[in-house]
Amino acid sequence: MSNNVESRKRLLLAHKVLNLSLIKRNFLQRKFTFSCRKGRDMKKIIVALILLLFCGCAHIGTVRTDVSSPSFQEQCQPIRVVRCIIFSDGTWSNERIKVDIKKASDSFERQVGIRLKILEFRQKKFISMDWLDTLREMENTMERPGLTSYDMAIAFASFGSLQAIGFHTLGFGYMGCIDSTYRRYVVIKHLDYRIILHEVSHAFVLDHAHSLTGSLASFPLKFPILSRVFNMSEWLTPSDRQEVLKNKWRHFN
Ligand SMILES: [Zn+2]
Repeated sequence: MSNNVESRKRLLLAHKVLNLSLIKRNFLQRKFTFSCRKGRDMKKIIVALILLLFCGCAHIGTVRTDVSSPSFQEQCQPIRVVRCIIFSDGTWSNERIKVDIKKASDSFERQVGIRLKILEFRQKKFISMDWLDTLREMENTMERPGLTSYDMAIAFASFGSLQAIGFHTLGFGYMGCIDSTYRRYVVIKHLDYRIILHEVSHAFVLDHAHSLTGSLASFPLKFPILSRVFNMSEWLTPSDRQEVLKNKWRHFN
């Protein structure tokens, strides 16, 4: 009898131990699953932060969220029309260039009330691939007497093959530029409406060159594989916008 009681006690104890080990195993399993989930969550957070850094940082502190407000749009009135002569070396079709100029113009009009109007297209091969030479060549071409009255001249010219390799692999090279004397001659090497916006903004932002964020950021961070303009913003910062509004009616001649 006593033997039976002892063996039952041992059995119960063993059962309890077994239960305890099961509880412990379940707990460890939960803990393991939890830490795994926590690890996955951490990975998601890190990926989100990286994406935010690369995609969102250019828009931080811009007027993007304000453009629809009636008071903001009131400040954009009246509309100024900037008359542009377009040069093209044939790298892109006139239609393709028109699309990007229209996008840049629509965005600029919403932000500051400045519209870009194409007066005419001219086909022109530039002698040099160098941006300074191209600007000089444009200036010489445009200063000839008897030309149509215009405000800005924008040239679309391709990269040289070495420049293209450097740009598309490492992101080196400039995508556009504007002359620093008249602020009316622009060369675009990479066709994207945000590059046009950046250069045209330079024609109206006269007290400084670049900003940390927004469309006047000096250059966007290069994300591996993706194009350098991937995270480029089309929106001005509030202070850049104020500077554009201040010089909105500047003379080009
Ligand atoms: Zn610039």
